[in-house]
Amino acid sequence: MNELNYITHQEIIKNFTDIKERIIVAAGKADRDPGAIKLIVVTKKFNADAIKPILDLGHCDFGENRIQESFNKWPNLLEDYPNISLHLIGPLQTNKTKECLKIFNTIHTLDRLKLANALDKEINNGGVSKKIYAQVNTGLEEQKSGILPKELDRFLDDTKIMNSFHVTGLMCIPPVNEEPSLHFSFLKKLSDKYNLKDLSMGMSSDFEKAILFGSTSVRIGSGIFGTRG
Ligand SMILES: *Cc1c(COP(=O)(O)O)cnc(C)c1O
Repeated sequence: MNELNYITHQEIIKNFTDIKERIIVAAGKADRDPGAIKLIVVTKKFNADAIKPILDLGHCDFGENRIQESFNKWPNLLEDYPNISLHLIGPLQTNKTKECLKIFNTIHTLDRLKLANALDKEINNGGVSKKIYAQVNTGLEEQKSGILPKELDRFLDDTKIMNSFHVTGLMCIPPVNEEPSLHFSFLKKLSDKYNLKDLSMGMSSDFEKAILFGSTSVRIGSGIFGTRG
């Protein structure tokens, strides 16, 4: 894990406060309630020392993209800050579902039926309910995970039989070289069509646009902690 000594706690707090302010402004422009937009602070590749100032401000929602890294970092913090809610925003292997469910509250990256079945089984065993969103590959990118838009209908239908959870939201990561608004408006249309309330979209570079198109969770890392080494 990188030790990013060049960003101070004061700078982290300032960045965090600025982002919160920008969320409020963007919500205002979209005529939306800022309270309906969750800020998920993405802490991948940043260590406990960098995260502490934000925890001490009382912030609760944090995102990670790797199970192993999350287990190295969060169990101790979860003891000290029991109100933390952890979001998995990276790919999940079927053989890691049990571990994943031990510390994550929301999974943004359900992308195949095999994983849905594994999660259903483990959530039933563990007895703790979770929020689960389906990741949609809106850019039809081969290297990116996510359900293809044309397969979403069938996928959502197939997951209706799961008795431990229902998919309540959609998530996307727009292709890097395309206008993100097109992807955000497309995901919003899909969420309306299927009546899914949660929309996880928007990162440091494009979260204001995502809010304009109805995002309910923005996932922000570098905008708070600086660039990842
Ligand atoms: C890393 C990551 C983010 C945060 O990206 P920044 O550009 O650092 O804000 C958001 N979503 C996902 C899925 C990520 O992997």
